Amino acid sequence: MMKAGSEGTKQNKTRRGPGGRLAAILLILVVLGLFWFAETDHPGVSQLRDRMLSSIGIGGDENPDDGADGTDSSGTEPGQSAASGQSGNIAGLDADNLPEYNGEHYVTVNGGIPVFPDEMTAKGTDPYEFYGELDALGRCTVAYGCLGEETMPAQGTSRGDISAIHPSGWAKAQNWERCHLIAWALSDENANAGNLITGTHYLNYDGMRPIEEEVEHYIWNTGNHVLYLSEPVYSGDELIARGVHMAARSVEDKGKGISYNVYLFNVTPGAEINYYSGIVTTEEQAAQEPRTYVINTRSGVFHYPSCDGAQSIYKKNRKEVTATRKELTDQGYTPCGSCEP
Ligand SMILES: [Zn+2]
Repeated sequence: MMKAGSEGTKQNKTRRGPGGRLAAILLILVVLGLFWFAETDHPGVSQLRDRMLSSIGIGGDENPDDGADGTDSSGTEPGQSAASGQSGNIAGLDADNLPEYNGEHYVTVNGGIPVFPDEMTAKGTDPYEFYGELDALGRCTVAYGCLGEETMPAQGTSRGDISAIHPSGWAKAQNWERCHLIAWALSDENANAGNLITGTHYLNYDGMRPIEEEVEHYIWNTGNHVLYLSEPVYSGDELIARGVHMAARSVEDKGKGISYNVYLFNVTPGAEINYYSGIVTTEEQAAQEPRTYVINTRSGVFHYPSCDGAQSIYKKNRKEVTATRKELTDQGYTPCGSCEP
């Protein structure tokens, strides 16, 4: 560096005082340092960064126990959460102490006032989308962006096939829906595994859709942009989110048109959901009398005796039981996706 500097002084006619050069070098070092801080995977630094981000309400995986419990999070990529899941504060939500479902589709967060970190607002009205990497458990982490006509599907196009995606916790025949974190109508995203979670109809259709439609209509009507954040909130290492945190604010009019900060419940009223296995027990099923089922002891799947799947089970793996559906699912057996017991 000294060498380059002294040669530079010889060849360069424009004189710059040593103070000015030092200041320029320092400025470059500071900028490089900031880049490193923003991008590095160094566990200590990325934890500090995540904590800073989550303290203002987004992303990261604030886990104060990291390191203390001996788990190694040094391999965690940016945008990923550690296997222990989001256990810190997500925009004022404590994932270990989530609000109880109270009959409404959502509760407001932070008085309904959206808060976004600098990394989301830095681009002004420039449209963009960001989808976080799946975490170590294969779960969606976060999706956000500055949405506008540019990010939306062109008028007249139709949604692509998303059936190949099996989001974490997906279970057959339990009436689950592939729920977009950012709706197709806003993002033009189809089979993007970082944007699809296992969600109930109640969350997907009744809870999120009215908000998504309001944002969509607002954008078509004004041509403005909307900062939009959608993140699933998990309890511990469960594979299905307990709910989705959504925040949105229109950019050009500073939230006059659109302003949301809500936590929506991933529930079906009256049904019991196993957020690990994806098995749903409806009220009727919970009240059911014991009956005959056929279990494949090898696969752990149970059937109605009349199911083709029940009749083709190898004798040594076949077990007939009299039980309720709930007793079997509680023992870890999975209802057949075909006869849907
Ligand atoms: Zn069956």
